[in-house]
Amino acid sequence: MASKPVTDQEKRKQISVRGIASLEGVSDIKKSFNRHLHYTLVKDRNVATGRDYYFALANTVRDQMVGRWIRTQQYYYEKDPKRVYYLSLEFYMGRALQNTMLNLGIQSSCDEAMYQLGLDIEELEELEEDAGLGNGGLGRLAACFLDSMATLGLASYGYGIRYEYGIFNQKIREGWQVEEADDWLRYGNAWDKARPEYMVPVHFFGNVEHGPDGDWSKPCKWVNSQVVFAMPYDTPTPGYGNNTVNTLRLYTAKSPNSFNLGVFNTGDYIQAVCDRNLAENISRVLYPNDNFFEGKELRLKQEYFVVCATLQDIIRRFKSSIFGCRDPVRTSFDAFPDKVAIQLNDTHPSLAIPELMRLLIDIEEMEWDRAWKIVVNTCAYTNHTVLPEALERWPVHLMEKMLPRHLEIIYMINQKHIENISKHFPGDFDRLRRMSLVEEDGEKRINMAHLCIVGSHAVNGVAAIHSKIIQDSVFKDFVELSEKMGEVNKFQNKTNGITPRRWLLLCNPGLADLIAEKIGEDWPKNLDQLRELTPLIDNPTFIRSIGQVKQENKMKLARFIKKEWNIDVNVASMFDVQVKRIHEYKRQLMNALHIVVMYNRIKANPNKEFVPRTVMIGGKAAPGYHTAKMIIKLINNIAAMVNHDPIVGDKLKVVYLENYRVSLAEKVIPAADLSEQISTAGTEASGTGNMKFMLNGALTIGTLDGANVEMAEEMNGENIFIFGMKVHEVEELDKAGYNARQFYESVPELKTALDQISSGYFNPMEADQFTHFVENLINHDRFKLLADFKAYVECQDRVSEAFKDTEKWTKMCLANIAASGKFSSDRTISQYAREIWGVEPQPDLKIPAPHEPLERAETSEGYKDF
Ligand SMILES: *Cc1c(COP(=O)(O)O)cnc(C)c1O
Repeated sequence: MASKPVTDQEKRKQISVRGIASLEGVSDIKKSFNRHLHYTLVKDRNVATGRDYYFALANTVRDQMVGRWIRTQQYYYEKDPKRVYYLSLEFYMGRALQNTMLNLGIQSSCDEAMYQLGLDIEELEELEEDAGLGNGGLGRLAACFLDSMATLGLASYGYGIRYEYGIFNQKIREGWQVEEADDWLRYGNAWDKARPEYMVPVHFFGNVEHGPDGDWSKPCKWVNSQVVFAMPYDTPTPGYGNNTVNTLRLYTAKSPNSFNLGVFNTGDYIQAVCDRNLAENISRVLYPNDNFFEGKELRLKQEYFVVCATLQDIIRRFKSSIFGCRDPVRTSFDAFPDKVAIQLNDTHPSLAIPELMRLLIDIEEMEWDRAWKIVVNTCAYTNHTVLPEALERWPVHLMEKMLPRHLEIIYMINQKHIENISKHFPGDFDRLRRMSLVEEDGEKRINMAHLCIVGSHAVNGVAAIHSKIIQDSVFKDFVELSEKMGEVNKFQNKTNGITPRRWLLLCNPGLADLIAEKIGEDWPKNLDQLRELTPLIDNPTFIRSIGQVKQENKMKLARFIKKEWNIDVNVASMFDVQVKRIHEYKRQLMNALHIVVMYNRIKANPNKEFVPRTVMIGGKAAPGYHTAKMIIKLINNIAAMVNHDPIVGDKLKVVYLENYRVSLAEKVIPAADLSEQISTAGTEASGTGNMKFMLNGALTIGTLDGANVEMAEEMNGENIFIFGMKVHEVEELDKAGYNARQFYESVPELKTALDQISSGYFNPMEADQFTHFVENLINHDRFKLLADFKAYVECQDRVSEAFKDTEKWTKMCLANIAASGKFSSDRTISQYAREIWGVEPQPDLKIPAPHEPLERAETSEGYKDF
């Protein structure tokens, strides 16, 4: 029986988790839309472009948010709760329009309004540029956290940089990655508001003048510096259904009008104005490295720029709340850690520690020990990786030139730190060397992770296994010191999470509806309720519905793939997906080798049963990461061969998902059958992509790495395909002396695949293109792909076998969905709030909506709190 096709627009109307469309609501939105088209876009419907309609709708939706935004900030000003500051060099926000409608509960009204105006809202949504101010997991985590902090009613702020160019756009040309600048602000941004009145100066370079005794721990003067201004732009971050709207404040660099005054005076006025660009380059572009440290001067400038501007803002707001004649009893900075929590997203904003010391000592003229206590009690640090090449170790000569006073402060911190270690571990000189903030072997460098640990009261990893690894190995010495000092709970775990609003309600309306039909509409705020789906595993009708939603999502993605890349995919095949940044440790190459194995099997035995697959791989390589770019080229070469082989037909297809980004993730993840999470055990700190797939009913093939471990635990080890070495086995193999070639020699399908690649089977025109690449793998294989390969292929065979039984497979999908509640970022943020920040989540707080009366006379005092 052919069922009536249901469009997403129709689906989105059926469910009140997206708000109920009321007659007045729809009518107001239409009026506002028409007003914006006329007055803001200055167009009528005869000449309006799709983009005009997008901006008219975006402005309409934004208008609905501003009253709530002002009221939220007024509320914070009056109640003066402890503020949480999330400092991050990356906020990978993606699109805002649909998310805003959803969180404000006006999606249904907007859908209906656009429908009545004869416009396709999904088409308009597609015209919004992604805010791609992040590289991957770390930046997307920050974005999920903003959503959860607002939803939990926390008085919180994101602080970062408003890059003029976000993560590059990836083009695939003849199989190679080509980078294009991401000019995301070209057509304007409907969501942010410049706040020139809160612009602050940031200083660089110059030198330090000390007091008469030359003591670095006493107030000093930083002189002869160069100044750049930091201009804030505020983006509202709405909570889900609670009228809370918090602020993401991103800074852009502005040259002072006096810039290059010397040149002005010597007469080259034109040159002086042109040179203003030099200062403004600070916020020009996001560094496109994921899990890799590139010690460039401009990057260090970015890191100090955001930290310096943010701390001025935090202290201004603290003073206006405490010293602003509102609470004269508390007049000192001693209350600072009770009123302010600063969370450092990796070491990227680690200069917050010496900068806060500088402000307290040099500007507020505080004693060192008192200032230090305040800093430590305020700051907390999240570690995101153990890969040594990702750890920030800034050359001392760079810091000395750019931040002379900060280097002195770091030296002072280190001196006291070393004294402290000596006290607890007398005579242990190797320990002093290992734990020092200053690395002396080779070029002198500052170890920023060590600085963060010493300057924070809490240090956390991002999944249980990762937190254990940092405590047992990388930061072991620091844990031992902490124990000697009698500190409790300094080293913690906070397993990452994702927001169920964007990653289910928004991206998978069919599944969201189905869930709401069964368990009600509370789950987006309380994801543990998904457990209530568990008994439905035995309900064949429900299982069929779950399977049907997945099938519809696959068909929709197939239409997109046809439109974008003109590839026909078999929607009955298994959609086998690996989307994430391209990195050797994530082992996309292992996935590619498995494709070659499947291809060879089909060619050798064309009539044998084969469970059809569409393998999709997507992700960006850092522009300077040669091996990652070779992996992309290889996957595309394999795809070209496989996709055009008539013997293969629609049993096997390979799709490179060009320009993987947040908005593409929202299309791909709901359509996946299989999620590839195959990093070498011990290398992926957590992963969050893994959680998005689980929540959307894909099964995982993965190693016991990162949060995969906890995903398996939530399902008692069932309904997930785990393979490969565990962390201790990887370590043991290293100790024994890993010999990759031995695996190449002893696994026949592996040897065949590697020989083919090496000899140019997939690129006959340039037959030696991958010879060196394969040689290197067989001789080094840092991430032990060859050691895990046999287990991987065997596990993939079990996956194929399981896929044949559609009903059983779908039951496993539902078991995954039902077990995914733990991975809501609401849970993660509640733990940060209680265990690190000392604030209590307010899930039931509801700020009065703009049309509802306030308890007191309305004032404009809220503006003071922006
Ligand atoms: C979630 C997400 C990531 C992180 O994926 P991992 O598999 O955890 O590395 C990267 N990029 C985008 C666009 C994402 O949405």
